[in-house]
Amino acid sequence: MEFDPQAVSGYAATFVNRRDMYPIQLENGTYVTVAKPLTDNLIYAHLMGHLTIGAYALDPKGWAKWICFDADQDEHFEGLVSMAQALSLFSDVPTYLEPSRRGGHLWLFAPTLPGFQARRFGKQLLADHELPEKHGEEQPGIELYPKQDKPFPGPGSLVRMPLGVHKLTGHRYHFITPDGTPLAQTIREQIQLLAAPSRVPQAFVDEILARAPAPKAVSPTQPFQVKPETNTSAPLSERIKSRISVYDFVSQYVALDQRGKGYCPFHDDQHKSFQVNQEGNYWQCYACQMGGSVIDFWMQWRGAHNQDSSFKETVKDLAKILL
Ligand SMILES: [Zn+2]
Repeated sequence: MEFDPQAVSGYAATFVNRRDMYPIQLENGTYVTVAKPLTDNLIYAHLMGHLTIGAYALDPKGWAKWICFDADQDEHFEGLVSMAQALSLFSDVPTYLEPSRRGGHLWLFAPTLPGFQARRFGKQLLADHELPEKHGEEQPGIELYPKQDKPFPGPGSLVRMPLGVHKLTGHRYHFITPDGTPLAQTIREQIQLLAAPSRVPQAFVDEILARAPAPKAVSPTQPFQVKPETNTSAPLSERIKSRISVYDFVSQYVALDQRGKGYCPFHDDQHKSFQVNQEGNYWQCYACQMGGSVIDFWMQWRGAHNQDSSFKETVKDLAKILL
């Protein structure tokens, strides 16, 4: 078997969101991360069935170019098939169905979206088609990838790259159309098609996002032990800073070791680049080259959670619980 290298590059461009590392599937079906660049040769080997690679759902900056619904029960996969049919018929939106051993995946190739928008879009689609989203083991349903809004602390969720061999079953799974016929007769033709997939129109994405619920607000709600106030006539920002140490505040959000070090919540951190200096009462991240007070931390945190990260709104937010 041989594949056209250009088609393989195109296929890679369709699915791969980051090249600096990749997940590889083990015989038991789980994945381990390989901290090496993902090359087209490796992807070629994946398509040949020599190894099985996963695709991370987000790029290092947190953007997604596809959305994948995962149903691991046939009943839910049938729901995805109905959704694919309805999207094609009523909205002219192309989707790609990939059945598996049980259930299967439904892929949508979208205009590039920030992770949280990709998730809002996916959740709203499920709601529109009255399909259940999976929540843990208690609430069975369909899983949505990307699973996270942002790629930290790690690279986040991944999906097995299609057309390779599933390590657990030893099978290769082909794509089908919403009416159940093969997307193309040979794997070679399927790769060609996926190298240039039909994309979801931007107007459709906008229309769905306009109806999706707004992102949930994040507010500091932890039960902080605040220090007594000494100077109530000082500016609001100074009063906030006098009420709690950077360590006490930040340690509610970032797991810190004895030296005050931890994984930075603001970038994809593998090296504990983040530290709180207890003597100096400030935090910093060596990689992001950021740092400062409680207010600076909360500004970044709000920004990372798609909230208004202006100084004014951040101070207002903190004043609510610290003053
Ligand atoms: Zn950082």
